[in-house]
Amino acid sequence: MSKNKDVNDNSPIMEQTLDRLARRDETPISVFILLLVFYIISSATVSITAGSQRVVMFGGNEISLYTFAGVFSSIANLCIVLMAVFCGRTGFVASVIVLLFQIPMILMGIIVRGNLTSLPGLFGNILTIIVVYVIYLNNKNVESYQKKLRDQATTDLLTGLPNGFASTELITELIRRNIPFAAVTIDINGFKSVNDTMGFDIGNRVLIEIASRWKDIADKGLSGTLDFITRINSDEFSLVIREFSSEENILKTIRLYDQALNEKIHIDAYEFVVSASFGYALFPVDADELNTLISNSIAAMKEIKRMKSSEHILHFTPELLGSRNLLILENKVRDALENDRIYFNLQPQYDITHRLRGFEALARMKDEDGTVINPVEFIPAAERAGLIDSVDLTVYKKSSMFFGSLLKESNADIVLCINVSVKHLMKSDFIEEIRGILKSSGIPAKQLEIEITESILIDSVEKAMDCLKEIREMGIQISIDDFGTGYSSLSYLNSFPSDILKIDKSFIDQMNDSESSKKYVEAIISLAHVLDYRVIAEGVEKQEQFDTLSGINCDYIQGFFWGHPLSEEDAAALVLKS
Ligand code: C2E
Ligand code: CA
Ligand code: CA
Repeated sequence: MSKNKDVNDNSPIMEQTLDRLARRDETPISVFILLLVFYIISSATVSITAGSQRVVMFGGNEISLYTFAGVFSSIANLCIVLMAVFCGRTGFVASVIVLLFQIPMILMGIIVRGNLTSLPGLFGNILTIIVVYVIYLNNKNVESYQKKLRDQATTDLLTGLPNGFASTELITELIRRNIPFAAVTIDINGFKSVNDTMGFDIGNRVLIEIASRWKDIADKGLSGTLDFITRINSDEFSLVIREFSSEENILKTIRLYDQALNEKIHIDAYEFVVSASFGYALFPVDADELNTLISNSIAAMKEIKRMKSSEHILHFTPELLGSRNLLILENKVRDALENDRIYFNLQPQYDITHRLRGFEALARMKDEDGTVINPVEFIPAAERAGLIDSVDLTVYKKSSMFFGSLLKESNADIVLCINVSVKHLMKSDFIEEIRGILKSSGIPAKQLEIEITESILIDSVEKAMDCLKEIREMGIQISIDDFGTGYSSLSYLNSFPSDILKIDKSFIDQMNDSESSKKYVEAIISLAHVLDYRVIAEGVEKQEQFDTLSGINCDYIQGFFWGHPLSEEDAAALVLKS
């Protein structure tokens, strides 16, 4: 039955919250009362009809009223059984009391009035008690099994805290019951570096210590508010605060969790200074729906983290909404990575005689409802969220495995071009990733090409240079993407370890508008040739663009004119037929 436990029950507060959540679907007390009333009415009717000599007319026949006694007695028994089945312990106790109460009355009928016809009723009564008891025992077994399942489903194995599922369940329930609360998203600052430098084992022990400090506050009710702390994933936690008197009260509670990290964490011989960022949003003030509320609190958390201030707590404000779409997109990228919805298309590149030169692998991402999202949208989001290397790596792995087997099958002399974000290139293990790609796919190094965008490259030229040199020494080709959109400085090309220049689509678009634009593209091509670069024109859509480019010695063409980005099957068909 849904009788809420008191907060000052002996079990920890967090456990009580989980218990209440599990009990929220139990039969309401009104059902129990209704069954009891039905039972009383049915039993009273049995006594009235059983002794009655009256007859009633039914379909032209006379029926004695006492024959209905059996029907009402069955209804009364049904009420008893239903109480035992649906109303838990209260139902069981009530039904046993009612059944036991009947026994002396039946016995009296038998002994005092010598009425032996009640004997079967007595047996029936005893049998019903046994049935009710069996139902009760069975319910108890199911309950304890459910509790075990609940614990497994709602517990984070590492820290023992409830998990994200429990948090979502609680928030959904509070919203349903319109109970005000604060949803706090917590992220440990710089936790990745603990993992990177000390390893996962130590990292995990740090998380366990943090969780235990926070659980203590929540379980013992130290904050004065009713708190529920959960671990969402890795170093992300969530706190639900209820029963607060003011916003000041919420802040005080969050501060307590913040201050719990002031004391250094000791693991073996190491000492860790840990802090966290807390972003919160209020129901129903800041949002009245789960997803919006959570993304609002995440927006606040990310903002305070970004500010790197000494204050670690921030309340959501609508001004943060500007970055909301960004967050949604970041989450979509994360989700697509986890659920294998990042894939690639291959756009063909041709030489000027229409001989296939190779393909550029272009990332694609599917939303959970199957909508394809454009890389112009999601690549910047992936970069901001620090996920670009995972996106790139997914595209590399998938496209290289496909391309490697296509080479084996066709023996074609074609290249695979992959895009690399400079953020990714700067990662220490980039070279290792590329070596891995070559090894597992079997693509010869000279048939792999890496595209780097010009503008970003110039900004980070010093750091990028060494990495590019090493890649080039491996025999891999390097092309400068979107050439012309950066500083358009041809001078740096001389010192740059690269082989190919991709002239940006914007130049190709304007090329036929004026003689000077055409001359400009022509100049780029001839200077590139002097510097030993080959040139690809990007975004070639029209015949006249192609005519101009072939007239000014452009080496390769990429664009809708000769080929849109293709699926794997279409790309394979293109190679195998040529
Ligand atoms: P990009 O590297 O300059 O790729 C060329 C883009 O121009 C592609 O857009 C391609 O579909 C489009 N395109 C090619 N020919 C034509 C044409 O004739 N007309 C028009 N209107 N468009 C044409 P897409 O696939 O949307 O990619 C956009 C950008 O996303 C790419 O620009 C690249 O910067 C980035 N990107 C794509 N895949 C990856 C990836 O795997 N990793 C990284 N880091 N960035 C990627
Ligand atoms: Ca590219
Ligand atoms: Ca480009």
